[in-house]
This record gives sequence, structure tokens and C-alpha cells, in this order.
Amino acid sequence: MLFRVFSKNELKNLYDILAVNHIVGPVSKGCNKNSTALYDFDFVYDFEELQLEYSATIHSLKRFILPAKETLCSFTLQKNNWQKHVELNAYKPIVYFGLHACDINALNKLDKVLAGKIYPDPYYAAKRNNMFIIGVGCTPQPFCFCHSMGADSVLHGFDMFLTDLGDSYFAEILSARAFECLSGITCREPGKSEHQRFLEVAQEKMKRFTCHVDTTDLTKILDLEFQADVWREWGEKCLSCGTCANVCPTCYCYGVEENVDLDMRHAAKTRHLYSCNLIDFAEVAGGHNFRPHSHDRLKYRYYHKHRGFVEAFEESLCVGCGRCGNACLANITVPEVIASVRGKEGYHG
Ligand code: SF4
Ligand code: SF4
Repeated sequence: MLFRVFSKNELKNLYDILAVNHIVGPVSKGCNKNSTALYDFDFVYDFEELQLEYSATIHSLKRFILPAKETLCSFTLQKNNWQKHVELNAYKPIVYFGLHACDINALNKLDKVLAGKIYPDPYYAAKRNNMFIIGVGCTPQPFCFCHSMGADSVLHGFDMFLTDLGDSYFAEILSARAFECLSGITCREPGKSEHQRFLEVAQEKMKRFTCHVDTTDLTKILDLEFQADVWREWGEKCLSCGTCANVCPTCYCYGVEENVDLDMRHAAKTRHLYSCNLIDFAEVAGGHNFRPHSHDRLKYRYYHKHRGFVEAFEESLCVGCGRCGNACLANITVPEVIASVRGKEGYHG
């Protein structure tokens, strides 16, 4: 890894170099009813729209790499033969400017499933290979527990990562193309004082975490508490709406539909993202539903994140972004659910 520092005035020049591509970044989306500023990832058309000091985005990046609905292939009947047309839906490189460490870690986790060696997903991989990622340091919010999940800093999966030192940015550079971009602006190697400031910023960030999740032996505790009453209690609150999976950066479950047009000459295979909390998620042919109760579905979402994925990859599938808790109309949050399974009340450490 290489390091550089550059003045904040140079950020616009960096943006202009990259703006020959599409740019996606955090932009303002107004305020909520409490006048709290809202942000979300969207296409950026002007440098002034880019809000690098954003708190958190409502949604993750998922709509750009795992769209809610995606045509996987289409078919046309020609002279009694079906012609198949596969479209990976990745047309141009996209610059993702301003991702927090948790969201980059989420992509790294998705890669393990969707871009792994055994069953790579070509639609996901095509979009993933077209990403140029600039990370940016964040300020922990009251709902962030990424530190507990080991996702508050990131070591790979980005091209460049920027840390705000006050008047300048400290850039960690991981790719040759990021290094090339920086050659177009005024930057230099960091000195001793900037190394020191970089470490101070990291320490200041640590002090700002107020939300913690005790993950000690969590997989074993989940095994022990599989039949615990708390799952029923949370299940009674859950509306089975699937919002948590919609906003989650690491939920990737999907369904595939095949539809034939009324003219019987065109057909399409379509993928749509799904949620394990939805009532028919585990329904199979013949109408049997393996998880007819909301508490079973909610429980399995937690077991996938904190038990099954850990067994497969030795890490949790949750990055602690807190989006699911913020979006849940029933106020179901990961820290509270896990604290209750551990037999603790409350979660603020
Ligand atoms: S946990 Fe909340 S967001 Fe998720 S399905 Fe239940 S009610 Fe909806
Ligand atoms: S489960 Fe919730 S806190 Fe964890 S990554 Fe998904 S949205 Fe974020």
C-alpha cells in the first residue's frame, strides 16, 4: 500500500479527473420528520452534490450491483428455435466515491459468495469488476456497531481510501489506477506529523462508538439458544415486511422467474431480490411452507448472518451498519436482538 496526502482544495480536481466516468456517491435526500439530514447513494452529476461528510446512507450500494429486479436472459422464437440472449447489465465502469469502511467490507463479504471460485455469479462479477472505489473515513453514529463486527476499518476491496486530517486528506492507495489518478493532482508523501494525525483520527473515531454488540462465542450461544423464547417475542413484533433485507448491504437472497409473453415468441428469465422474512420465502412446490411463522423466519435471518456464514467463512455476514434497525417499523435492531439472546437487557455499552 502507498500513502499520499493532498490538500482538500485538490479534491475537486480529483473528482474532475474521474468524472469522465459515471460517479455514484452519497448525496443529500432532504430531512426526516425530526429534521435530521438524510443521505443516499445516487449518481452524482456535480462535485457540489457529493456529500463526503455524510452520516450514513439509508440504503446500501446494492441497487447498483444487485438490482432489486434484473433480467438475466431473454429468449426469442425464430424458425422454431429459441434464441437465447444473455446480458450481464454492466455497461461502463462506475466510480463509487465516498464509501464508508462498513460498505466496502460488505462488498468483500458478498464477493465470498457471489464472486467465489465455486459458483461465481457472472452478473454480479461483471458489475463488481467495473467498480472503482474511493473510501472515506466516517464518524460513528449512535446506531453504528461496525466496530463490534470488525468492519470499522478496511484493508482491501478499494482503490483509494481517504481520511480527513483537517486541511488535507490522507490517501491509502491500493491500485495502480488510483495512483495514476493522483498523479493528475498535487499530492506528496505524508510526513511524520501526518502519520501522527492519521493515528489520532483513528483513535478519536474509536472513542465515538456508543453502540456495542458482544460477539464473544456468539455462534455457540446461538446454537444453545435455538429454542429460546426470545425468538417468539421478536417474531410477534416482526411485520414480515422484508425492509431489513432491502436496506442491508449483505442480504443477497433472490428468486428467479421465467415468463413467456402472450405472443408465445418472447420469454425472459428475471431475478428479483427477496427476503427470508417474507411469508412465502420457504414455501415449496405443493404449497408446504417450511417457515410459516414470523419468529422462525426472523430467527433464520439472524442464524444466516451470525451462525451459518461464520461457519462457512469464519466471519459474520453483518457489518454493523445499523440500517436494518433504523428502517424497521417494529424497532427490531440487531444489538437488541443479540443482547436478548445472550440474556442481557439493553445494548448500549
Ligand atoms: S425485522 Fe423489521 S424490517 Fe425486518 S421483516 Fe421484521 S418488521 Fe420488517
Ligand atoms: S444485518 Fe443490519 S446491521 Fe447488519 S449489515 Fe445488514 S443492515 Fe447492517
